[in-house]
Amino acid sequence: MVMAERVSVTTFRTDVFNNWCPGCGDFGILSALQMSLAELNLQPHKVAVFSGIGCSGKLPHYVNVYGIHTLHGRVLPFAIGAKLANPELTVIAVGGDGDGLGIGAGHFLNSGRRNVDILYIIHNNGVYGLTKGQASPTLRRGMKTKSLPRENINDAINPIAAAIVAGYTFVARGYAYDTKHLKDLIKRGIEHKGMAFIDVLQPCPTYNDIHTKEWYGGEDRKDPATGKPVPRIYKLESVGYDGEVRNESEVTEKMSRAIMKSFEMGDNIPIGVFYSNPLVPTYEERIGAFAPNYANFPPAVQPIRNLAYRPVAKIDDILEEFAVK
Ligand code: SF4
Repeated sequence: MVMAERVSVTTFRTDVFNNWCPGCGDFGILSALQMSLAELNLQPHKVAVFSGIGCSGKLPHYVNVYGIHTLHGRVLPFAIGAKLANPELTVIAVGGDGDGLGIGAGHFLNSGRRNVDILYIIHNNGVYGLTKGQASPTLRRGMKTKSLPRENINDAINPIAAAIVAGYTFVARGYAYDTKHLKDLIKRGIEHKGMAFIDVLQPCPTYNDIHTKEWYGGEDRKDPATGKPVPRIYKLESVGYDGEVRNESEVTEKMSRAIMKSFEMGDNIPIGVFYSNPLVPTYEERIGAFAPNYANFPPAVQPIRNLAYRPVAKIDDILEEFAVK
């Protein structure tokens, strides 16, 4: 039996060499995640972080919990499978915008409607950083980042709107360089009962020379009166926005308002919780409705061998059941 230990941010650090580029927004996401795990006092052996392929895919290497670096675009099936096998685990999936909204788009959409109780974080930098900066699905039409030969001719996916219509029940946007705010979002996403999604605006200083830290911070548009930058990022809570559904009658109105708000980009970019609906039953609860033993006897605690060390599953019987005759 593993004893509970007192945790801190250092509990969740590893000594694996970190080869992200200096100044990468990935560092802010990593730091916010480690802080949130510590503040929630989660035990490392009760947390699993899954990743896809891309710069963000290295994140599990740097967090001292169970870490699984999976395949391109396939992080959600792995993460969901682990959660359903062991509902006691806190499961967090991470991936890039190309990974989750390009090759993994089918999983992204179909995971929302299941409402499994996990958190999915997208590192959204508008480029495929690991493969030298090609345009990702979130780079807007007309943008020409430094490794593109010409302007991007594709329109961009809006991850917030896509998540809401897909059925995610907690949908938020964070900013990688506001780690305190992002930490609070991650804590809320972990604590939310159901499928949570956080789109994190994450500057890639190596390949995205448009959406830089300075651009988000408004360094190019100083207030003539004060001479100070006017940041493009603002917090939804600072303008009294409330996306939480408290009864069923509010669902359509709050969903519509959140989608409209998510299209506010350009020079005013909101971060915070766009939509939260804790009233939707989770996938685990739906399974429990027809398999009452599931909550207390999920696959992870079922025996796989008998006292004679023989497998309890009768493979021949299973094969026989699926045989085509
Ligand atoms: Fe970060 Fe971009 Fe470097 Fe990847 S290529 S580590 S996203 S700065």
